[in-house]
Amino acid sequence: MNEQLSGKVALVTGASRGLGKDMAELLAQHGAKVVVNYASSPEKAEQVVSGIKQRGGEALAIQADIGSAAEVERLFRETIEAYGRIDILLNNAGIMITKPLAAITEDDFDRTFAINAKGTFFAIQQAAKHMGKGGRIINFSTSVVGQMFPTYSAYVGSKAAVEQFGRQLAKELGPQGISINTVAPGPINTELFTAGKTQEEIARVGSMNSFGRLAETEDISKVVLFLAGPDSGWISGQTIRVNGGFI
Ligand code: NAP
Repeated sequence: MNEQLSGKVALVTGASRGLGKDMAELLAQHGAKVVVNYASSPEKAEQVVSGIKQRGGEALAIQADIGSAAEVERLFRETIEAYGRIDILLNNAGIMITKPLAAITEDDFDRTFAINAKGTFFAIQQAAKHMGKGGRIINFSTSVVGQMFPTYSAYVGSKAAVEQFGRQLAKELGPQGISINTVAPGPINTELFTAGKTQEEIARVGSMNSFGRLAETEDISKVVLFLAGPDSGWISGQTIRVNGGFI
């Protein structure tokens, strides 16, 4: 185990699968105690926790719906009760509903903005309350913000808000010694991207970057590890497009 995050406590929202799982495992491998948040997949979250523990790390699963500010507050309270502090927040939980404009319902819009934008906002607020100097907040947008794919309007609108929170709040959180950045991946080989798509569609989008393949979660996690670590403290208020040249 590499110990660059030894003594740090990381909260990863939406860590029961996909990118969140991979990042939780990587941060734990580098010495952080990790809270594995999930909404509705307790078995998967517990599997992530037991995998981390088997490799000698420390982790805890906490259920909370990131789309509710009250649940976000409870998540931070339970994190502090368990580990006494929080140093790293990965605002990863997200959903993607893709539909033509005419088919998007009010519920689709509200859920998308509640989980992706509101949840991120109130988690940042909680992090600012509990983190000390050297705190790291990393939000998650998407490179599709710059790609203008049809059917992605509600999703991309919610992520554009996330990017702006990062730019805006860097100046507010800097005096506390907290950095805040946004990682905006291109398409990644996870359920969020592949669900409901044909192999042809997946291959077509996968061929749109410079390297001609879909990103795997570790392509993104390694960049997040750097942003969460001790050497990235002078980076704040940035949106970093980790997309293999997709845009
Ligand atoms: P994913 O495979 O669909 O996993 C989503 C995770 O979020 C799951 O652990 C899920 O937990 C959790 N989650 C969903 N709703 C939640 C809620 N209300 N409260 C708490 N947790 C919730 O997604 P992913 O591909 O790993 O995406 C992770 C992040 O990267 C998202 O913010 C996404 O927008 C962004 N991103 C993804 C891609 C891509 O192509 N995959 C590209 C760019 C950006 P449960 O199972 O318990 O619901």
